[in-house]
Amino acid sequence: MDPSNDTSRYTVGWIAPLALELTAAIGMLEDHTMMPAPEDDVIYHVGHIGLHFVVMVVCPRIGIEPAATALANMRRSFPNIKHVLVVGIAGGVPCYGPDLREQIVLGDVVVGVPQHGSGGVTHYEFGTWEDNNELTVKGHTLHPSSALLTAVNNLRSAHMMAAGSRIPEYLQECRMGLNKRSRQAFEDPGAENDHLFEDDYVHPDRGRTCEGLCDTTRAKRRDYRGYLAERETDQPEIHYGNIGSANAVVRPSAKRNELRARHNIICLEMEAAGVMSDYQGLVIRGICDYADSHKNKKWQAYAAATAAAYAKEVLMLLPSGKRVSTESSSSDDRNEDSSSGSGRGHQTFHNSGTGIMSFNAGSGSLTSNNAVGTQYNNAAGNQYNTPFYGHPPSFPGWPRSNR
Ligand SMILES: [Zn+2]
Repeated sequence: MDPSNDTSRYTVGWIAPLALELTAAIGMLEDHTMMPAPEDDVIYHVGHIGLHFVVMVVCPRIGIEPAATALANMRRSFPNIKHVLVVGIAGGVPCYGPDLREQIVLGDVVVGVPQHGSGGVTHYEFGTWEDNNELTVKGHTLHPSSALLTAVNNLRSAHMMAAGSRIPEYLQECRMGLNKRSRQAFEDPGAENDHLFEDDYVHPDRGRTCEGLCDTTRAKRRDYRGYLAERETDQPEIHYGNIGSANAVVRPSAKRNELRARHNIICLEMEAAGVMSDYQGLVIRGICDYADSHKNKKWQAYAAATAAAYAKEVLMLLPSGKRVSTESSSSDDRNEDSSSGSGRGHQTFHNSGTGIMSFNAGSGSLTSNNAVGTQYNNAAGNQYNTPFYGHPPSFPGWPRSNR
């Protein structure tokens, strides 16, 4: 049997609700194959990212239930899934936090993490209608697993280092796999195309987009993030907080602002609650609009790509427990059980496509800097993606950042 058809090897499940979100997701895979699963009536997309064998699925339509069904089917067909990601686009709350100083601009990424008593995703239309005609929301969901939250914290720390994020690099790689027309859609549209209209300025015609219709003199500048930093091409800011999820599109700015004030929600989407009610996954959203009445599809593809690139960064810092080697043409090598790693000496991993290296971490020792970089050993034989920050510049095949 072709090893890629072995459903037992896949341990990461990636839900990409829309087609363009799937396109961005596939752009993050290091080897993409389509795969029908036995006793399932959908096609899955499989490959690996770093040391993880990843299976991806698109939903038949938007909404909480289709996402829940997609995950249930995927987990039945791929019984060893340990980590679940929901990765796509969402409407963002433009300002949040103390004194509303935190600025979310289009293309930024929001990650659902526990905060203010929420697990990271609030199902804000699920609850009890009280006598005073108010809905008491009881739609709190599970929080991400400890493994995913630890990977997120490692990444948050890594983003503070001089080398910064690898998102710009992953965006470039993703675009290389697209046709010319699509590639353009996945470019950063730039601050000049980011308009945050005044809250009381309602989009006048649902049949048209804002372009050439809406009065941009009634929009705020979004090219400066206040006290943080000016925005730069392909360098989204990452925001961590509570994500609002429901089977409803929010158009009035007032409703969006109310959800922020009541539940500390910083972005709004329509699938996460279907996954997070039963599973400790991680929700990652690229911001494509401001959850208001204005209509602008210019940012959707790029926002899908920034979210997918962030998801890839998280997976790079998530231990796999499996050894993956692409040095050999035999895919069976990748599926070797990690428990056999003890006492076998150094295990290194080369990837000509994206130049990932790995190390055996834990209670072992740092061995050397040699031709292939830094290696770590440990007795357990678990293999991890090496931190790509501060890697030697001479590492063969290492992708150079264009920053
Ligand atoms: Zn408009």
